[in-house]
Amino acid sequence: MDKSVHHGRCLCGAITYKVSGTPKIVVHCHCVDCQRLSGTGHLPGAMYSVDQFQLNGEIGEYKLKAQNGTEVTRVFCRNCGSPIFGKNTGMPGFVTITLGTLDDSSDLVPEVVIYSRNRKKWDTMNDSLMVFETQPDWNPAAESG
Ligand SMILES: [Zn+2]
Ligand SMILES: [Zn+2]
Repeated sequence: MDKSVHHGRCLCGAITYKVSGTPKIVVHCHCVDCQRLSGTGHLPGAMYSVDQFQLNGEIGEYKLKAQNGTEVTRVFCRNCGSPIFGKNTGMPGFVTITLGTLDDSSDLVPEVVIYSRNRKKWDTMNDSLMVFETQPDWNPAAESG
């Protein structure tokens, strides 16, 4: 079995997906949208390019405007409500998979914390991670490798 392939699914199993290769980055996001969407203190996500990602099943979409004016699409299972991934018109060609929907994400360790200014007091994080108050000025498309 190819170790670089990760499989995931929603709570009810109506949506399954797989991602291949290494994510561009793995982050913990404390933004208020991720908090509401997930019902938790933050949402851990792994960013992949769309050509690394294959999804099966009928999705629901919710679109909203981000603070910087870009459009965010949150994709979820219409049956059970699990958030599966998100995308942003500010970063075309990339999807951010919710880490908790993967069958095995043990080798995908978040490196970065973003929107720490929205972190809830009860949501204690790993001190050794790189922390950003908001979204860092960072463009995955410009990264090499
Ligand atoms: Zn489902
Ligand atoms: Zn967020």
